[in-house]
Amino acid sequence: MSKLFIISGPSGAGKGTLVNMIMEKYNDIFLSISMTTRQPRPGEQEGVNYYYISTDDFKKRISEDKMLEYAEYCGTFYGTPREPAEKALNEGNSMILEIEVEGMRQVKAKMPEAVTIFIAPPSIDDLAKRIKKRNPEEKEEVIEKRVSRAKAEMEFTSEYDHIVVNGDLQEAFEKLSAIIADYIRE
Ligand code: 5GP
Repeated sequence: MSKLFIISGPSGAGKGTLVNMIMEKYNDIFLSISMTTRQPRPGEQEGVNYYYISTDDFKKRISEDKMLEYAEYCGTFYGTPREPAEKALNEGNSMILEIEVEGMRQVKAKMPEAVTIFIAPPSIDDLAKRIKKRNPEEKEEVIEKRVSRAKAEMEFTSEYDHIVVNGDLQEAFEKLSAIIADYIRE
């Protein structure tokens, strides 16, 4: 059965890696490519990781109702373009949105049947280390913002249908994969 999965979790909890592993295993699930106003990180590619657009373009898209959901996160906008997501779902495909908490709330309000999964780090200390290691070129102030936002996000885990703690990557993958398999086999 086609399902919409929303996967959230603080920056640095390993959700990108887990989502990539899921996409390799389930090649019939679509991954929504978000739009963002942040700069690409080294190695990121237009149309693969994100569509990188200007703040003006982003705001224009919001005013034209072309975003399924969006949020401002650490000073930049992130959002799900409405058209490709609705097309994939209308055609009966399952889809993953990798978005933060505000976006999850917006989508869940419109589509209560969406399945929400929170990827949590084993501890906040561990998360702060991962965030710093991942963004060595990021300004200290942005790293601090990301760490404090990550701490705040940990308060929202109870709003999610499932929580997967990513201490051991393989174990977390198996747990996430089992959750997804349960719904698409329904
Ligand atoms: P990053 O800058 O680390 O790629 O992403 C920062 C945060 O934005 C992550 O928590 C990520 O899940 C979230 N994010 C990415 N795309 C979207 C989106 O389309 N909508 C929302 N609401 N959040 C997003």
